[in-house]
Amino acid sequence: MSQHNQNDAEQHQLKFSTKLLHFGSEIDRSTGASSVPIYQASTFHHEDIFNPPQHDYSRSGNPTRQALEDYIALLEGGVRGFAYSSGMAAISSTFMLLSAGDHMIVTEDVYGGTYRLLTMILNRLGIESTFVDMTDLDQVKAALKPNTKAVYMETPSNPTLKITDIAAVTSWAKEHGLITMLDNTFMTPYYQRPIEHGVDIVLHSATKFLGGHSDVLAGLAVASTPSLGRQLKQLQNGLGTVLGVQDSWLLMRGMKTLGARMEHSEISARKLAEWLAQRHDIDAVYYPGLKHHPGRLIHEKQSTGYGAVVSFDVGSGERAKQVLSRVEIPLVAVSLGAVESILSYPAMMSHAAMPPEVRRERGITDGLIRFSVGLEDIDDLIHDLEQALQTS
Ligand SMILES: *Cc1c(COP(=O)(O)O)cnc(C)c1O
Repeated sequence: MSQHNQNDAEQHQLKFSTKLLHFGSEIDRSTGASSVPIYQASTFHHEDIFNPPQHDYSRSGNPTRQALEDYIALLEGGVRGFAYSSGMAAISSTFMLLSAGDHMIVTEDVYGGTYRLLTMILNRLGIESTFVDMTDLDQVKAALKPNTKAVYMETPSNPTLKITDIAAVTSWAKEHGLITMLDNTFMTPYYQRPIEHGVDIVLHSATKFLGGHSDVLAGLAVASTPSLGRQLKQLQNGLGTVLGVQDSWLLMRGMKTLGARMEHSEISARKLAEWLAQRHDIDAVYYPGLKHHPGRLIHEKQSTGYGAVVSFDVGSGERAKQVLSRVEIPLVAVSLGAVESILSYPAMMSHAAMPPEVRRERGITDGLIRFSVGLEDIDDLIHDLEQALQTS
């Protein structure tokens, strides 16, 4: 490449969709192979004992996992990425940045597993948390204590898709020297890059949209600074919560099509949300792309799309169960973000452990269904849902 072309290349920032395919390790440099090799090895030979190899033991570093970690760091615009055996492994490892006596402010409709980790495990270790409605900055501010160390966000939240103003929370948190963390599972970096809005650490259940095929369990974290990167590295290595090489490879394979999948599913999700919103037999529809969604403008400020998850309330538990047993196309299951549509029933699945009155308070009624829209033809999905909703 000539000097002139090189300068051109440096000046031209690749667009996100191009980065998804050309992330640096898409080709094996030594053979030209069209995908990262799976380095199925636990350890690495020291040819020269005085010059150790780059990787010496796979918990501490493996070239296949490294490729994935560099890939997610590039996509999120951070400095260093980490891959873990599940989303919860990513989240729990990151929480180990805190010490006994520290306090965290956490969004009240946080993912159920994260809620359990905070209230049943970390509390025993002396790490306390206060849950607040993060759509209300005053509540976040009021939760500040002398020992507060971190703020944990999730936007849109699950399952009622509430929106937190990321920049408002991070700028307040910075004034108080707090670390900010955000679970970006629902949007993925394709639609939302929290580091651009001041977030320090981005977390993912890569089991969902990033993997995209309901066939791999994985978690990712991205640090926005070298110092946080070093700390997360020490924790990942010390706790040993790493992702295996086969799953690292599978995840990269899924991530290459993230853009195409998100685009397709989002167009369908918008159609589904609008179709549901104009029906008179649906009590509520939650989707950030709907005109009446209370967080829509804030969401549009920080994201470039509305995502593929639509929640709706069919009025009663009885009717919800009817819909779930009558649908023929979607999977009826826990999880989301896959090529196939997935219908979940929060009251009996993800939020079953929550006391019924707390559930109702948060809009997680017995009639609430969460629809993660896949790649099927949207007309078929709507037709199927219509027959399932029919009152016999
Ligand atoms: C599924 C999920 C998690 C947990 O991830 P696992 O891969 O199941 O451990 C965390 N946060 C959100 C928002 C999720 O949907």
